[in-house]
Amino acid sequence: MITFEAVSKSYPGGGRAALTEVSLAVAPGEVFGVIGASGAGKSTLIRLINGLEKPSGGRVVVDGDDVAALGVEGLRALRRRVGMIFQHFNLLSSKTVAGNVAFPLRLAGVAEAEVKARTAELLARVGLTDFATKYPAQLSGGQKQRVGIARALATEPKVLLCDEATSALDPETTEQILELVSNLNRELGLTIVLITHEMDVVRRVCDRVAVLDGGRVVETGTVEAVFLHPASATARRFVLEADGAPSEAAMVDGRVVRLTFRGEATYRPILGAVARETGVDYSILGGRIHRLRETPYGQLTLSLAGGDVEAAIARFRADGVRVDLVTEAGR
Ligand code: ADP
Repeated sequence: MITFEAVSKSYPGGGRAALTEVSLAVAPGEVFGVIGASGAGKSTLIRLINGLEKPSGGRVVVDGDDVAALGVEGLRALRRRVGMIFQHFNLLSSKTVAGNVAFPLRLAGVAEAEVKARTAELLARVGLTDFATKYPAQLSGGQKQRVGIARALATEPKVLLCDEATSALDPETTEQILELVSNLNRELGLTIVLITHEMDVVRRVCDRVAVLDGGRVVETGTVEAVFLHPASATARRFVLEADGAPSEAAMVDGRVVRLTFRGEATYRPILGAVARETGVDYSILGGRIHRLRETPYGQLTLSLAGGDVEAAIARFRADGVRVDLVTEAGR
């Protein structure tokens, strides 16, 4: 549905390139996450998909179209197929909820009767039927984002771009909006690209993720692979953060490991037994019960020191606990 072929982007007068040789492919119906710190190039990447920016090198192809080759009419047609939602919602404050949702339909010259019917249907889909005549200022953040989503869906797009769409929301509202986004993916077969600086958002809704650092893709993979076994230092930092471990955890003495418990292993009192048997001391840096989409699992981030660390790791593994090394010894 979307391919980036060695895409680079520099801004006039900018220092280093915002993106360098980025290649990736997003399949139809996939939820694809792009995670990176501030300044990593996420917004640039997402704006290249709907033609708000043009690449300095390489090609961006969306639904069969080379975006840079499109004229004004072609771009307009592309933007009807590619909806977008924003961190700060970007609603029109002078229009009602219904007026905001109807806006792209009126712009596209849709007949008024159909605008009305379609607007009602969209508001029902996002759970805002009773709010049609309210103004954005009368809504909560979560409700505003629902309006943004309904508006983005008005032209029946194939692709939905989410630009830090939950970063301004509290955790509970974030959960609800991510669930809505997941449902849209499942029910409408919508392809979704979301950019975020939070691994938690990726973990909840994405199928695959690309990790962006300094304008380069440093890692791409299924969410499960990147989350359970991060290969790049950047991905490890995001994963530690998502574990609730301080990012300095990567600096402590000893070896930082993440234990993943699934199924039966979750309930065995294994930590004390392993410590006794191998003489290893552990300190807990972080831990939580998570879900990777639908699958529950427990994780503990530990620092292991003293005793026979290798034996402890082998013992955990023999007991069905997955052990991922977050840092090597002496880091
Ligand atoms: P992110 O969304 O990950 O924070 P951005 O894509 O916004 O990253 O920015 C990547 C880099 O490109 C940054 O160094 C930023 O300063 C620069 N940049 C972004 N937009 C512009 C612009 N319009 N003009 C000049 N430089 C820009």
